[in-house]
Amino acid sequence: MINDDLKGLLYEREVDSPIARVVRALSGHGAVSASQIARSTGLARSTVSTILSDLKRSNLVVEVETRSPGLGRPALAHSLNPEAGTCVGALLGLDEIRITLADVAHNVLADISMPLERDYSPERATRVVRHAIENLYKEHSLPYSGLLGVGFAVSGPLAPNGRIMRASVLPTWGGIDLKSTFAPVLQKPIFADNESNCAALAEVMWGAAAGVEDFVLFKLDLGVGGAIVANGKVLSGSSGAAGEFGHMVIEPQGPLCRCGNRGCLELYCSAASVVSLAQQRLGRATSVAEVVTLASNGDVGFQRLLADAGEAAGRGLGIVGSIINPPLFIISGGLAKAGELLLAPLRASYEKHALIKRQDLDEAAYPRFVTGRFLDNDNCMGAVGLVLRHSGRLT
Ligand SMILES: [Zn+2]
Repeated sequence: MINDDLKGLLYEREVDSPIARVVRALSGHGAVSASQIARSTGLARSTVSTILSDLKRSNLVVEVETRSPGLGRPALAHSLNPEAGTCVGALLGLDEIRITLADVAHNVLADISMPLERDYSPERATRVVRHAIENLYKEHSLPYSGLLGVGFAVSGPLAPNGRIMRASVLPTWGGIDLKSTFAPVLQKPIFADNESNCAALAEVMWGAAAGVEDFVLFKLDLGVGGAIVANGKVLSGSSGAAGEFGHMVIEPQGPLCRCGNRGCLELYCSAASVVSLAQQRLGRATSVAEVVTLASNGDVGFQRLLADAGEAAGRGLGIVGSIINPPLFIISGGLAKAGELLLAPLRASYEKHALIKRQDLDEAAYPRFVTGRFLDNDNCMGAVGLVLRHSGRLT
């Protein structure tokens, strides 16, 4: 039974054999060449080749062709057999629970969203998640026994034991222990991380940070969050609060923030703040999408709103740049859909506020600013990534 073999190799903590290292590299990276596996595991190329041959014979690994961008023939790569197992990522959102289903070869099989009343209870969430997963597995004719684990993306910092420290989007979830909430109902290993850390993992595994070891993700959604990735690892901090860029105080006498401080960055550049100002201007409800459309069509007022948000974001990132000095900033979240309307003023503001200026560096050494690949679904994709990378497992 290939699924049982896979579970043993992926999740038995004491197993650190060369074969387990190869299987974990494949699970974490998707389709990769033997040389890439050798590099990431530190095993000799000949050892990797022998192990891959054995794994192919036992049907746990399959050969796939990959084509790198540009010219060149397809290269031979290896991936876990997609039939060997599946993973689920779940986002516990403000008024929805979103579920993404993927196989161990990194193919996304389904992505669904279930609207819920705001601040739904943990009991309700367990019922909704269980029911949705069961339905998805039935619909796709997949065995529930093939589900390797469920990853959760949560709003707010998460303590290493899986307790939500201070829930910003789901107030009544503060102090809730995710493992004891979901494990008895799902009967599967539970993984969890802060949603911005999940978003960073999604960009590493499938998106704008593929192959990048050091970067900062800056996420402009309802609130403003972020993640710091250094040497290929997401920094969580001692209480899970690393990368909470939205609550850097940039105006000490500014308006009161939901966190209790004054003048936090997110008051000036979150999607919610932009939409709120746009609603005052229009005199009716609106959305980020409409603000972007109106600005793109030449409305100078809405262009100014987005530029002001970009200016504030750049000021905050200037501080981050002076502390961490990353080579890459990934701008993510709903407001990033504004593209250059937001990014151009953001870059200009970063240049104004960061210590190191463009003239100090060669062009290649200056930080790059790009938008994320998954502006809508990065949290959930990253929650799938937690299971595939065996990261953030709650014990
Ligand atoms: Zn705040």
